[in-house]
Amino acid sequence: MNAKAYYESDADLGRLQDKTICVLGYGSQGRAHARNLHDSGLRVVVGLREGSPSFERVAADGLEAAPLARAVAEADLTAFLLPDPDQPQVYRDFVAPALGPGRTLLFAHGFNIHYGQIIPPPEVDVIMVAPKGPGKIVRELFEAGQGVPCLVAVHQDVSGEGLAIGLAYAKGLGGTRAGVIETTFIEEAETDLFGEQAVLCGGVTALMKAGFETLVEAGYAPEMAFFECVHEMKLIIDLVHQGGLKHMRRFVSDTAKYGDVTRGPRIITDQVRRTMKDILAEIQTGEFAREWVLENRAGRPVYSALLRREAAHPVDEVGDRMRAMMKWLGSGGGS
Ligand code: NAD
Ligand code: MG
Repeated sequence: MNAKAYYESDADLGRLQDKTICVLGYGSQGRAHARNLHDSGLRVVVGLREGSPSFERVAADGLEAAPLARAVAEADLTAFLLPDPDQPQVYRDFVAPALGPGRTLLFAHGFNIHYGQIIPPPEVDVIMVAPKGPGKIVRELFEAGQGVPCLVAVHQDVSGEGLAIGLAYAKGLGGTRAGVIETTFIEEAETDLFGEQAVLCGGVTALMKAGFETLVEAGYAPEMAFFECVHEMKLIIDLVHQGGLKHMRRFVSDTAKYGDVTRGPRIITDQVRRTMKDILAEIQTGEFAREWVLENRAGRPVYSALLRREAAHPVDEVGDRMRAMMKWLGSGGGS
């Protein structure tokens, strides 16, 4: 079943007009949300840690900042735009004591609510507005009169206005100019984790490394392996991003297309699909969430060790040398 979508005329900014919005965090999403909401005529206070260097940045952007406890105390709506692992502690120390009837908590990712790391009291509304893009783009498109599509979800709806408030917030971000898709905290949390693990981050990096290693082990130059299995990924993905698989296939040779449709399915075997199902099951049962929460509590030993090992992989050493030949690539970060 297709998800429900909302646009400009479905959302009323007036729902947030006389309210104070507290944006917690001034990183990728926080800065973009705060600035877009402010420029949409809404009252925004950015909540920061005492002594945070972001106070200056917020002031330079022409916005108001306050220490966490004070920002939250004034807010009708508090938006959690902190790193997900940091949210539960900030919630316990600063947000929970200030909550009461009529308050709204807003998240940009469903993890902490769905997996019970934050359990708000029953008298508050709990909603999600999640732009499907990094903060930088959320801001740039807003300034250009456009917007990034958003997800909206309602977890707890005491006021009966949760969806309307979420849509107003999405409109303030510019999201309704593009379209806002309705989802649930469960669906967003589980599909987000699955996508990043099986396909986007985990799947794609493992695929590129396996291709690179196969060529290098067979005696081909690592430089060639890098270009064929890593560097050219972007050309293909950009085409898919623009117009789908069909569009990409219009731009590659017939030889490439024949190899694609005959060999691709042999790479993603039934075994791989079974593993995808196992990974999804770990997400659905909360096993992954428990592992990641405990890993954070333990000071991230596995995370640190594995990332250190990854950083030493030859694919990036060769890549760095090749990228030095391509200064025109720049260093485009995502956020
Ligand atoms: P970020 O790391 O860019 O920014 C987080 C900010 O919070 C930083 O300014 C950091 O200094 C501050 N911070 C960290 N710990 C803090 C603490 N204890 N107290 C106060 N401030 C603290 O994070 P982000 O990428 O903007 O993500 C924020 C939320 O948005 C997350 O829930 C994430 O899942 C969600 N989200 C991110 C994206 C994205 O593309 N980056 C897209 C959609 C949703
Ligand atoms: Mg994601």
